[in-house]
Amino acid sequence: MKDPLKYIRKNILELNPYSTARDEFTGSGIDVWIDANESPYQNGANRYPDPHQKLLKEKVSAIFGLPREYIFIGGAGSDEAIDVIYRVFCTPGVDNVIAISPSYGVYQVAADINDIKIKDVLLNDDFSLPVDRILSEADANTKLMWICSPNNPTGNAFPKEQIISLCNSFDGMVVVDEAYADFSSVESMLNEVGKIPNLIVLRTFSKAWGMAGLRAGMAYASPEVIGYFDRVKYPYNMSSVVQEELMHRLESRPDEKVNEIIAQRRRIEEELKDAPCVINIFPSDANFLLLRVSDADRLYDFLVANGVLVRNRTRMPLCGDTLRITVGTPEENTRTISLIKEFK
Ligand SMILES: *Cc1c(COP(=O)(O)O)cnc(C)c1O
Repeated sequence: MKDPLKYIRKNILELNPYSTARDEFTGSGIDVWIDANESPYQNGANRYPDPHQKLLKEKVSAIFGLPREYIFIGGAGSDEAIDVIYRVFCTPGVDNVIAISPSYGVYQVAADINDIKIKDVLLNDDFSLPVDRILSEADANTKLMWICSPNNPTGNAFPKEQIISLCNSFDGMVVVDEAYADFSSVESMLNEVGKIPNLIVLRTFSKAWGMAGLRAGMAYASPEVIGYFDRVKYPYNMSSVVQEELMHRLESRPDEKVNEIIAQRRRIEEELKDAPCVINIFPSDANFLLLRVSDADRLYDFLVANGVLVRNRTRMPLCGDTLRITVGTPEENTRTISLIKEFK
């Protein structure tokens, strides 16, 4: 059995984390709170938030089916988890990580900020996972790998067996970023958390849950690993206002909207596959489609000129002449479809 603690930086293992008076006092009966230099005047935000997000984690636990010790919550979305993961496992200027390419841009930016080298491994031409090439990149300083599934921007999800085999063969942490899992028919890795010791799964409330503006994302891993994430994060990394807002909004699941988005994704695919400028639409397990077109830059400019902004991915590896289109409302999709159909 792998011990995930062996991949953690020495200074982090030895870290004395920040502790509040309210952490140190565990009794009851207090009704005068003059321990934290807050304003005593109630205005809905005068008190520091719960640094452990206890109530929120209970709610998240009930939704995702993992106990709260398996949950880290980032108050700057799962992007915060990405940065915390680098800081917990990777020594700047020394360690490196593996990432698939093309994939989500924040892995690279957060690596650059932390002075960590990324070894990019090109996906196969059909965007499938090159398991052997990934494993052959690992060296003694490779602490972790990023596997985004469903992958942004290609849209495809990788088979669970392949990800499990990466976890078993790789001597380091495997982070599976499941930002788009709610839209996918491929089984999530979430039920493997805690069973596979070197697995971390990322989820977010920004996409299917419709709360990108609140900035809330999760990392799931075994309790030992989560314990170090909690020590490294800023103590008050999620405001009390956002914690309360989330508690309220998490009362209902977004299933209906997710189904509608999947239905619209199928509709766009169907209606655009024979459009003159469309060469190929890649199969998607996400809330977006990657389209290969005859001239991505020109189509991009044409859409912009008509008030529609899409993501031009033409300069990413393996993505020549592609645009990434997020599924919008039915009306927005109608407009985008007719513009793309009329483009010559
Ligand atoms: C959008 C996205 C995220 C970011 O999620 P936040 O929780 O909003 O920070 C993470 N990973 C991937 C692959 C994404 O596309």
